Amino acid sequence: MDYRHLLVALDFDPRSRAVAARARDLAQRYQARLSLVHVVEHLPLEPGGELLYTPGVDAEEEMREAAEARLTELARDMQLQDAQRHVLLGHTKHEILHFAEENAVDLIVVGSHSRHGLALLLGSTANAVLHGARCDVMAVYLDRPTTEGENITEGE
Ligand code: AMP
Repeated sequence: MDYRHLLVALDFDPRSRAVAARARDLAQRYQARLSLVHVVEHLPLEPGGELLYTPGVDAEEEMREAAEARLTELARDMQLQDAQRHVLLGHTKHEILHFAEENAVDLIVVGSHSRHGLALLLGSTANAVLHGARCDVMAVYLDRPTTEGENITEGE
């Protein structure tokens, strides 16, 4: 089966370049569409329902704009200018799964960090996406720390 539409979930961790490189290579191999997705999480509410930020400042909008700039920069650095870029606002797992279903994505590519302790109990994004997805999911293994001077733009 040939994949036709890949979604790569990017969180701007330095190692997300390895995730982007893997998705780029797969998209080229399958001649598939590639969507770059970053999710900006909603800011937390106080118990009374008030947002914890300065009145008059749309902090979520500022975060969204900053994320768009970073996604554009990442796409340029990774020679992914032709890929579609999407900054979504909400819960990371839900937004990734919702976008995938709405846009006929047939492969989701995420990074998979090693997890210990509480994070293991809570589950990583990769775990959450894997359990909720209605399409194939590739978890790019990111356990190996990047060393200084290493070229991570071409994947691991
Ligand atoms: P995590 O489990 O949060 O350490 O993240 C693992 C992977 O999930 C990352 O390598 C990304 O592929 C994806 N991911 C995490 N957070 C986000 C986010 N805010 N937007 C898009 N993808 C994300």
